[in-house]
Amino acid sequence: MSSAAAPVIIHAEPLGRFVQAVVAAGGSAAAEAEAVAHNLVEANLTGHDSHGVGMLPRYVDNLLAGGLVANQRLRVVAEQGSLLTLDGQAGYGQVMGRRAMERGIALARTHGVAVVGLANSHHLGRIGAWAEQCLAAGLVSIHFVNVISEPIVAPFGGSDGRFVTNPMCVGIPIEGREPLVLDFATSRVAMGKVRVAHNKGEALAPGILIDEQGRPSTDPGVMFRDPHGALLPLGEHKGYGLAVACEILAGALAGGSTLHHAKPSPDSIINNMLSLIVDPARLGTAARLASEARAFADWVTASPPAPGQRVLLPGDPERAWRRQRQADGIPIDATTWAQLGAAAAKLGVSAPAA
Ligand code: NAD
Repeated sequence: MSSAAAPVIIHAEPLGRFVQAVVAAGGSAAAEAEAVAHNLVEANLTGHDSHGVGMLPRYVDNLLAGGLVANQRLRVVAEQGSLLTLDGQAGYGQVMGRRAMERGIALARTHGVAVVGLANSHHLGRIGAWAEQCLAAGLVSIHFVNVISEPIVAPFGGSDGRFVTNPMCVGIPIEGREPLVLDFATSRVAMGKVRVAHNKGEALAPGILIDEQGRPSTDPGVMFRDPHGALLPLGEHKGYGLAVACEILAGALAGGSTLHHAKPSPDSIINNMLSLIVDPARLGTAARLASEARAFADWVTASPPAPGQRVLLPGDPERAWRRQRQADGIPIDATTWAQLGAAAAKLGVSAPAA
């Protein structure tokens, strides 16, 4: 497999303006279009092309099919003390997620902790963005997410897709250092990374995919056939267990739904998320967190690196990508760029000159 055409290199600002124009042409108010564009471009800037502007064609199709609703409002399902359950009503996750976190942060400031269920939001994108919003307010957060779309991840010991890539995320401030932002799909890789490899014409490493008959494969094309193959969970039975916990915490406890017999709509990507937001000052452990987290971060990253390796903290790779791509621009593979142009054209917007 090989992809002949060179990638397009584009800086974050013009890319953001283009995405904003497409979302606005879909009927979104200016603030919503700006929030969606900022969030998608941030994912590219942090190296997660899987959750960046390459998602826009799917968003446009979902919008036109009615599975994504512009200018939607959060609906409060239940609110009691530090507990809040919200329904995103298939609105843009970039807006539903931000507003849900704003409310959770306010509750955590008042009560010391907030438990926020956000059900039925359209795609919430890079979950790290929600931890970063809490970190900007000085708060620790933990997020569990499930995904209602075509099941593409096989259970440990299984041979077909039964759930999706169910991400989880933890954000912790570290005194005197950049914060820890642990943010990952519970599959071996995020599905968007399979799409990016497929668009680039690249093979994936062994141990990530099985084909439609459950046989090991390195061809991302197995996920774009009908019937399709499946991704494997990370960490064998342990990652599988974490994925199941995400499915039930987000898809049930947070008020959403889980995947089972009913076929999910092909016209939407629904995320449910359970977030726990903690104010260390109110817990009485802020000083302890500051000293111990810093001491441990310094200690663990002082481990002598294995040959050819570096010891990083979760969140460091994204910060390095951001610095590099903010300066040099964001590479977008030719297939993804063509898909973006086609999606924009559906709403009467032209792509900027490559
Ligand atoms: P990944 O495999 O790149 O792992 C990312 C995590 O690992 C980050 O916390 C990163 O800082 C850390 N990390 C990477 N290299 C490291 C190193 N050498 N040392 C220490 N830490 C390191 O990410 P992924 O699993 O492919 O997920 C990509 C993105 O996709 C995430 O932002 C996730 O939220 C998002 N996602 C979203 C959905 C959704 O439905 N909205 C579903 C799945 C994934």
